[in-house]
Amino acid sequence: MLIVMANHATHEQIDRVVKVIEEMGYTARPMPGEQRTAIGLVGNDGRVDSSRIEGLSGVAEVIHVTKPYKQVSREWKNENTIVTIAPGVSFGGTEIQIIAGPCSVESEQQIVASALAVRAGGATALRGGAFKPRSSPYSFQGLGKKGLEMLALARRETGLPIVTEALDEEGANLVAEYADCIQIGARSMQNYPLLRAVGRLKKPVLLKRGMAATIVDLLMSAEYILAEGNDQVILCERGIRSFDTMARNLFDLTAIPLVQKLSHLPMIADPSHGTGLRDKVTPMGRAAIAAGADGILVEVHPNPDRALSDGGQSLFPDQFAQLVQEIRAIANAIGRTVAATPGTAPIQVG
Ligand code: PEP
Ligand code: MN
Repeated sequence: MLIVMANHATHEQIDRVVKVIEEMGYTARPMPGEQRTAIGLVGNDGRVDSSRIEGLSGVAEVIHVTKPYKQVSREWKNENTIVTIAPGVSFGGTEIQIIAGPCSVESEQQIVASALAVRAGGATALRGGAFKPRSSPYSFQGLGKKGLEMLALARRETGLPIVTEALDEEGANLVAEYADCIQIGARSMQNYPLLRAVGRLKKPVLLKRGMAATIVDLLMSAEYILAEGNDQVILCERGIRSFDTMARNLFDLTAIPLVQKLSHLPMIADPSHGTGLRDKVTPMGRAAIAAGADGILVEVHPNPDRALSDGGQSLFPDQFAQLVQEIRAIANAIGRTVAATPGTAPIQVG
């Protein structure tokens, strides 16, 4: 439930509403706005009797949020949430962000070379897994803490903020010490204790859609993070399982405008895992931006043939640079711009 206060509501009237909500056994989330304050009521799993609140002075309107993903929904908050992972790297505004880098951090030399290559190609953030959720326990599992240290070195060398995955609560605390944004991968999308843990960490979170998750499942998982008080969540379409094995996954482009209609959170897309095929990454990356994505996440490796994971879907650096060029033109056509690589001047198109 959302309580919208009148324009002229006083602090005392707002405090009174908060107190009544708490007396009713719920949690109050005041949200001061430019015009007026709204107060969110959380902690209910069903319709709340609003009669006691409607009668309080200063209350203009009581809105019953009908969606189960309350705080994530546009009913709760109509304007886009802007998620800032580093100065100048914000998701959800008119600027498009490009997260790029290898699937896994493999060595200091590999991650620094990757970071320099994606930076030269126009990336605005660096990705690379230090903790890898592999389908086989015998596959490369990542370098763990050493990998995080290598990412931090690559950030120092290039100025690019880091996006990297956490697999469990303990790992999330460690990742939060190094990363600018914590990735929750497809396999962890419904790991509720992990979602709660990153909700408490107050670091931006990149939440990827599970491979068998509906859009509502994705939004409900995001709700877990917001319910802990962290609204810095970026959602990501990365393909779902289908009956057709021609591509690694079915890259669900429709999810982009669907999520943007239902939620105020930024929505990006990952055409690398979405297709699993190097030569399909560029067309689908272009398509994601044309469909309105707030950014893309793309795997790039300086030497994909030697990659320890996902080499077959990783772009060569020159292919990546070409993709960013094309995305600039598409962004221009739809009234958006690709953000400048941190520390550089914006590139003009057209
Ligand atoms: C990744 O980003 O490398 C990854 C493992 O992605 P997903 O969770 O989407 O499979
Ligand atoms: Mn990967």
